[in-house]
Amino acid sequence: MGILEVKNVNKRFGGLQALGDVNLSVAENSVHAIIGPNGAGKSTLLNVLVGKLVPDTGTVTFDGNSVLGRTPFQINQMGISRVFQTPEIFGDLTVMENMLIPCFAKRDGSFRMHAIESIASEHAIIERAEEMLTEVNMIDKREMHGASLSRGDKRRLEMAMCLVQEPRLLLLDEPTAGMSRADTNNTIELLKEIHTKRNITMAIIEHDMHVVFSLAQRITVLAQGTPLVEDIPENIKGHPKVKEAYLGE
Ligand code: ADP
Ligand code: MG
Repeated sequence: MGILEVKNVNKRFGGLQALGDVNLSVAENSVHAIIGPNGAGKSTLLNVLVGKLVPDTGTVTFDGNSVLGRTPFQINQMGISRVFQTPEIFGDLTVMENMLIPCFAKRDGSFRMHAIESIASEHAIIERAEEMLTEVNMIDKREMHGASLSRGDKRRLEMAMCLVQEPRLLLLDEPTAGMSRADTNNTIELLKEIHTKRNITMAIIEHDMHVVFSLAQRITVLAQGTPLVEDIPENIKGHPKVKEAYLGE
């Protein structure tokens, strides 16, 4: 049993079968990539996992509990964090201010309680935010504004904002899309570091084969909404079915 189990998931948009009988098992502590040509259903699958879309049929369980019927916020509270294609940070807040948002959200599920909480717990939260910024090499930039960071540093900050919530599963949606080669390599290194240090489970949706083969231990290939092959990277490279699915890309 994987920490994330997707069984017979189907999703239609009108006449279009975006997901057809998707089965996927993500092993705890692994890095599992989901690849596939444009329109294969990758984003639709991710949106099902985070509660933004409800499948027509099938089940999705995380650590044995169904995620279906829960709101994105509730799914996040279960321990699933999503990293967006474009880093979702606040440009007009400093790096440290950005970090405090998930810290307070995690503590009480809302920002309301904040004002009546004790100063002592605020100190603990700030320390925790600082530790996490140190871990992703962003502590020297704590007073910089989000908007002035490089693409790679925005990604680092966003990762820190995710990790401070101590998720058990990170879902990454094309985390290097639009990045320079240097920022892409930095992001690969960062994800490797995080995975090694924290043994965190990662499911990564990715188009860039360099990223996939640098990180993934298992790869599922989606084509036209259905898993075509699932195997270790060495067996996916040059797989005739995979080549065929990518023809014309
Ligand atoms: P991928 O992320 O692999 O490129 P998507 O999951 O975005 O693929 O899309 C899968 C298919 O579903 C595509 O044909 C796309 O046009 C269609 N689709 C995705 N979202 C919607 C939607 N909200 N309404 C209608 N069709 C959609
Ligand atoms: Mg997509």
